[in-house]
Amino acid sequence: MNLPDLTVTDVRQYVYCPRIPYYRYTLPLERPVTAKMDLGREEHESTSAKESRRTLKAYGIKEGERRFGVDLYSRHLHLRGRIDMVIFTRYELVPVEYKMTSDVGLHHKYQLAAYAMLAEHTCSQTVSRAFVYLTPEKRAVEVPITAAMRERVRGVLAELRRSVWNERLPAPTPHRGRCYGCEYRRFCGDVLAGGA
Ligand code: SF4
Repeated sequence: MNLPDLTVTDVRQYVYCPRIPYYRYTLPLERPVTAKMDLGREEHESTSAKESRRTLKAYGIKEGERRFGVDLYSRHLHLRGRIDMVIFTRYELVPVEYKMTSDVGLHHKYQLAAYAMLAEHTCSQTVSRAFVYLTPEKRAVEVPITAAMRERVRGVLAELRRSVWNERLPAPTPHRGRCYGCEYRRFCGDVLAGGA
């Protein structure tokens, strides 16, 4: 099976539950666009519009240029993604992703690390930090981008490619609360048998 370029969404989903991107690549399913996804898209668009009128104070940055909906690609990583915003200052590149949540999960952090790696490849500049902007709280949370996180992102990409290539179902997430309402729940017989 030829595996196309992976996406930053794959990285986020893999950290959340490794089976989710596996199913997406191996099951011939049309994913429905749910009302929740539509709502998320509208919320992102309205946040971008509001953000363009704000200062950079939430990020502790005095001056910089904001670019919205930036397409990023790395031929080296075979990875692509579109980030909500990148702040370009004289000294650094700062990726920002909006979230409709009130806290920052590990999957969000690795999503940002993947964006940071892509931004570095696309813009040839080092990224040392990124932000999640929590839209319900109108609060920006800084996420340092470390060498260990970059290594983990590379590991996630390799593990996902290997599992899809070999059609080997990854282990389920140990956080079984995530299985409630999961669109792939009916395929996880072993999880259901375990009483999730
Ligand atoms: S049901 Fe649970 S283990 Fe299966 S894909 Fe969904 S979150 Fe992962």
